[in-house]
Amino acid sequence: MSHFETNAIRISNGKSNQREHSSPIYLTSSFTFESAEEARQMFADEIEGNIYSRYSNPNLAELIEKVCSAEGVENGIATASGMAAMFGSMASLLQQGDHILASRSLFGSTHQLLTKVFPKWGITSTYGDISDIANWEKLVQPNTKMLFIETPSNPGLEIIDLEWAGKFAAAHNLILVVDNCFATPYLQQPAKWGAHIVTHSATKYIDGQGRVLGGLILGNKELISEVTYFTRHTGPSMSPFNAWVLSKSMETLALRMDRHCDNALKSAKYFQESKDLEFVKYPFLESHPQYELAKKQMKAGGGIITLNLKGGIHRAQKFIDNLQMISITPNLGDSRSIVTHPASTTHSKLTQEERERVGITDGLIRLSVGLEHVDDIIQDVESALEKSR
Ligand SMILES: *Cc1c(COP(=O)(O)O)cnc(C)c1O
Repeated sequence: MSHFETNAIRISNGKSNQREHSSPIYLTSSFTFESAEEARQMFADEIEGNIYSRYSNPNLAELIEKVCSAEGVENGIATASGMAAMFGSMASLLQQGDHILASRSLFGSTHQLLTKVFPKWGITSTYGDISDIANWEKLVQPNTKMLFIETPSNPGLEIIDLEWAGKFAAAHNLILVVDNCFATPYLQQPAKWGAHIVTHSATKYIDGQGRVLGGLILGNKELISEVTYFTRHTGPSMSPFNAWVLSKSMETLALRMDRHCDNALKSAKYFQESKDLEFVKYPFLESHPQYELAKKQMKAGGGIITLNLKGGIHRAQKFIDNLQMISITPNLGDSRSIVTHPASTTHSKLTQEERERVGITDGLIRLSVGLEHVDDIIQDVESALEKSR
């Protein structure tokens, strides 16, 4: 098996003695041993096997194997949410006194981890601007251990050069962690460019239907064994039910991403000419400042576009209130199209200046383009734009 789609469908635990075709759910907290000696051997790591679902579970194993194959990495762990994955990847690999260099445009809770949670334990961080990558050398400190980036960024859709990041991390002996949530392994595989750890909020496109939370930490065997030690004993494990849902979702990831990307590109092109907008941002629009870079490292532009409305917060809220079909909810990557207004919600705790530095204008609307017919998505947006004038 070599193709992405085939692996995402055909990797499985294999049949149990019931000869089922679809993988069953192993909703069990623990696993039994044949004998006291077998229990001893498993606890001593002399033989492999499931012991307890905080450590491992067949549904998690199946999901992890699929996602590792998709990302081109050796091993991984599944966590209860994306944030458990972000936290676990940092907390397990860093120590008191270490320093993280990160791209400024980060998911809101990741920003909270770096600025509020880790400083409590003496782990500090510095942000670098994507527009000023030439100066990142100056941001590396003697105690810098990790480079943490998100590309495309949420919600500014800025792109970081993964080839550059891989070389930069290698030159400075840093662990490169890439949050690959927006692109998914179908569109971009950071490990190919030198990322040591790839993290995901599986809640987004990997689920793709807004049902379950989940997270993933993926990488080479050595690093993942350190992360595994940490997660086994701190307990952010994913539920076997959620792992089952997400493993099923992996079967349709390629198909869904193709349609998300098609619908998003068509919508972005349509609204490019709109007089109601300052501009539309989408990685695969030629007007995107990093269009060439996006083309180099991504198979397609992803499912998120930003509409930058003229008229600021008031206009943006009026636009949202006039949508008929598109949902107002903080999730993204769902089969249903979703809008959010970051300036008044997810990024409202940032100051105006901090928002502007990461490209969040008052009129910015994040549109997660769903799988409905593209004409219906465009029509809903267009009519709400008219009514908000
Ligand atoms: C949603 C998201 C997260 C957090 O994931 P949860 O599953 O909500 O905990 C982290 N990073 C990015 C880029 C996200 O979009």
